Amino acid sequence: MPVSLLGAAEIRRLAADLDVTPTKKLGQNFVVDANTVRKIVQAAGVSASDRVVEIGPGLGSLTLAILETGASVVAVEIDHRLAARLPETAAAHGVSSDRLTVIDADALQVRDLPGEPEVLVANLPYNVSVPVLLHFLETFPFLQRGVVMVQAEVGERLAAPPGSKVYGAPSVKAAWYGPWRLAGTVSRQVFWPVPNVDSVLVGFDRDAEPRGGEELRRRTFALVDAAFQQRRKMLRQALAGVLGGSAAAASEALERASVDPTLRGEQLSIDDFVRIAAG
Ligand code: SAM
Repeated sequence: MPVSLLGAAEIRRLAADLDVTPTKKLGQNFVVDANTVRKIVQAAGVSASDRVVEIGPGLGSLTLAILETGASVVAVEIDHRLAARLPETAAAHGVSSDRLTVIDADALQVRDLPGEPEVLVANLPYNVSVPVLLHFLETFPFLQRGVVMVQAEVGERLAAPPGSKVYGAPSVKAAWYGPWRLAGTVSRQVFWPVPNVDSVLVGFDRDAEPRGGEELRRRTFALVDAAFQQRRKMLRQALAGVLGGSAAAASEALERASVDPTLRGEQLSIDDFVRIAAG
C-alpha cells in the first residue's frame, strides 16, 4: 500500500480529536500543504535507503512525506498527545510499523537515537531551533546532512558568511560542523496557525573530518561567545577575559594565531577561531 499524505481537513480533525490547540510555547505551527512537505523532503535529498531523524513531528505531515520515499524515520516529539498518536496516523496512511520509531521526549534532552540516522529533516519549533540543532550535531556524530525549516532570520544567520550583517555566534558554531546553505523559502500560508514570521529551509553537510575533539570545540565556542557578546569591541578587548586576562595577553595570543587583534569577531571565520583556540 503506498503512503498517503495528510490533508488540511484531516490535520484539523486530528487536532480536534486530540484536543490539541496549537501553542506558541511549543512552536506548534503545523504544515497543512502536501507540496510543501514534499519540497522539504526533496531539498533534503531523502531516498529509500536513508535513516532519517525528525525533530517535532507534530501531527505527522512532514513525517509521512519522508516515509513516502521509503526511508525510515525516528521522530522526537515533546507533546505526549502528539507522540502517542503518530504511530496510529502512520499506520492509517500505509506505513508499516517497522519504519517509524517515535520518541516521546524533549529533543534538547535526547542522548540516544536508535539506528544511528544519518539525515536530519525537520520543521523545527522556532523557539529552540538553534540550541536543538547544535545539540543534535554535537551529540550524534553519525548525522551527516540535513535540511530544516526555521524562521527566516535564523536561517539567514546560520548560513551567513563572515563579514555579513547577520553573521553571529550561531553562524560560527554551526560552521564548526560543516557548510550551511539556504535551500528555499516557505510561504506563511502553508501553516496552521499562520505564523507572524517568514520561514526558510536551510541545509548542512557535515565535514568528512571533524575540526577537532570536544575540548577544542569547547574552547572555540567560549571564544565565539566572548567575541560576539561584545561584538563592537576589538578582539584584543573582547577576548581579554578568556585569553590571559588582559588586552596585552589577548593581543599576543591573537598574533600567535595570525589574527589581527584590532579586528572584530564578525570578521573572523570558524578557521580563525579554531586557530586561536588551538593556541
Ligand atoms: N513537523 C510538524 C509539521 O511540520 O507540521 C510540526 C512542526 S511544529 C513547527 C514543531 C513541533 O515540535 C511541534 O509538534 C511541537 O510540539 C514540537 N516540539 C516543540 N518543542 C520541542 C522539543 N523541545 N522537543 C521535541 N519536540 C518539540
